[in-house]
Amino acid sequence: MGANVVLPPPGVTDVADGDTVVCYPYGVGHGHEGISLGLSIGGHRILLDCGLEDLAPLGDGPPPDAVFCSHAHLEHGRGLGLLRQRWPQVPIYATAATAALLMDKALAQSIKILPWRLPVELADNFTIELWPAGHLPGAASALLTYTHGTQRYRFFYTGDCFLSSTRLVEGFPLAALRGLNPDVLITDGSLGVARYPNRRQQENQLIEQLRSQLDQSRCVVFPVPLLGLGQELLMLWRSHYHFTGQPLTIWVDPALGRSCDAYLELLAQKPDAFPRNVQNFAQHQSIFWDDRINPTIKRLPQSAADWQHHEQQLQAPAVLLVHPATPIDLYCQRYRGAWSVFLPEQADLCAWQAELNRHGPTYDWFDSFKNATASGTVHLETYQLHSHCDGDGTTQLIHNLRPRHVVLVHGPLDHLSALANLDSLQSRYQVHIPLPGNPLSLFLDTRFKSPPPPREPTYEGTVSDSPNQISLQLPSAISNDARWQSFAETGIVEARWQGDNLVLRGVDPSELAAMTNRLAPDRAICDNCQFYQQRTCQQTRSPMFGRLVAPDGHCPEFIVRSIE
Ligand SMILES: [Zn+2]
Ligand SMILES: [Zn+2]
Repeated sequence: MGANVVLPPPGVTDVADGDTVVCYPYGVGHGHEGISLGLSIGGHRILLDCGLEDLAPLGDGPPPDAVFCSHAHLEHGRGLGLLRQRWPQVPIYATAATAALLMDKALAQSIKILPWRLPVELADNFTIELWPAGHLPGAASALLTYTHGTQRYRFFYTGDCFLSSTRLVEGFPLAALRGLNPDVLITDGSLGVARYPNRRQQENQLIEQLRSQLDQSRCVVFPVPLLGLGQELLMLWRSHYHFTGQPLTIWVDPALGRSCDAYLELLAQKPDAFPRNVQNFAQHQSIFWDDRINPTIKRLPQSAADWQHHEQQLQAPAVLLVHPATPIDLYCQRYRGAWSVFLPEQADLCAWQAELNRHGPTYDWFDSFKNATASGTVHLETYQLHSHCDGDGTTQLIHNLRPRHVVLVHGPLDHLSALANLDSLQSRYQVHIPLPGNPLSLFLDTRFKSPPPPREPTYEGTVSDSPNQISLQLPSAISNDARWQSFAETGIVEARWQGDNLVLRGVDPSELAAMTNRLAPDRAICDNCQFYQQRTCQQTRSPMFGRLVAPDGHCPEFIVRSIE
């Protein structure tokens, strides 16, 4: 740490004989330092994101030729203002939505706006093409292409990315990028190998948790970063059937209110930065502010004086959406009853932590909140509403893109290491975890052919029929195959025509159990439990909560699924 890394002077060619690229990890987001990666390709030097708090890690070398900002979160764009001051002539590229959400008018005006899905030349033989990354409106992944003679090298930087669509953002278009085969894929591994229920289930879970707190006449506080999570929550509460039409006031603090306004301005000017259903919704009502319908979303007064002027007290049930830097005591004095705080689960705290750091590293928001409430008794809940790929998502992304090198950044080191150690990645790719200040050389062998996609071989068999039955004769290559042995272990094989092919598959023990269970719907096993959804346990009280569970599992929290 602290070692200055200097980008090589202009004219020095890293891809000397077309086979090496150097990645300079100025900030890799293992902690709160933010993301900023230098990439030196064939004499072109580009800086991917600048989420550094100060520019010291960049050292005192020459400026990069170009800067790309993937999205407007602090840990990716915090240092852009300083960068602009230091090197006013260096172009900074981003999408129009990212420029708008950076909420720095002067900076936004100086940003060169890039289109979606169109290669733009940054320099001779060097192009950039942006792809939607999911995660946050405007968030972009960058495909960099460098051509050297007949050789073409491709680098894909995902930024923060999320495969699923959320309330306000369309997911990463994985199908369109399948088989891209970049030489290098730099991707976000912040959630490590953890598996999470799908986004809709996470939302429903959160709604249940919140409902139960509100039903106890509590005021509930959600501290959230300026961009992303807070707006997703508002849109969720606004459109979830559990909340629409319910008498509930949602208060938004002024700092978050301003970022909501930035979303609204973006929606007015660039509607296609948002999914179609959001555009439609917005034609009938403001997506964030409306005090004529329930739930009501209102702005919290700016100061105590404003509050007096309004003569308002907080009344439970109410939800407060606040930025962690907001002086919360001003608001908690307005309600003497019980409070609950909802914190995003540890794994997704990166963005939040960057904002909390403004108070200093030892500041404990929760403690200070507790001290500020009248009673001092505060109930704490944690929830999941992730907008980064989980372990399955990240590996799915990698297998679909099929790069040669995988560079994992962003997130605690142990999360990245767990990903890097997966057999399925180790056996196919060269996986790297760059450490801050240590340049990483990536060797690009032009003869390299990326591994073929996993594909099932085709075998010839014999079908013979008699008046009473049809039998299938399988070649020994199949019957001796260990995989066949295991998938035919139940002795039950399903055969199905698919076009001209007869597709055979073994019925595995858990499927067999599921079939049997369906015949005995009252048995106290997971498959018959109302909390068993998509093979995971959704019962918060269960020790198996959030895990992938076998259908014939059992736990004391079993509640039989009602028959629809
Ligand atoms: Zn982000
Ligand atoms: Zn991030």
